[in-house]
Amino acid sequence: MGRGVLCLTRSAWEAAWRHLRAAAPAEGVGLLVGKEGCAQEAWPLPNVHPEPEVGYRAEPEALLAALRRADAAGLEVVALYHSHPAGLAYPSATDRREAYWRVPYLIFGLAEGRARAFWLPGGEEVGIEVRP
Ligand SMILES: [Zn+2]
Repeated sequence: MGRGVLCLTRSAWEAAWRHLRAAAPAEGVGLLVGKEGCAQEAWPLPNVHPEPEVGYRAEPEALLAALRRADAAGLEVVALYHSHPAGLAYPSATDRREAYWRVPYLIFGLAEGRARAFWLPGGEEVGIEVRP
């Protein structure tokens, strides 16, 4: 995958926004899955963080089931996404410390109505391309 741009379809983009707005004031988390480097669907996951208004932790069994479902459907995990319900779309210190996926992290800042994507833990910003 190129390092410069995160591609997702408009329907995946809008589905992620809907999920995260509905989850507020808790943080929401999910997978963006698709093919050929472009996310086609947003798959919400339960946030089981003990303080879900300030952190996220994808429920492990749901995450495993989602990964298996993606494999079975021939889909790849294109990005991880989560929200900052009261904050900006930049990675927190916790986001950097706990990062381990080798795909971009797409962060939605609900308070500013924006999303940004980053490689973590490094913090290099990735452009976002929303396709029709
Ligand atoms: Zn975060």
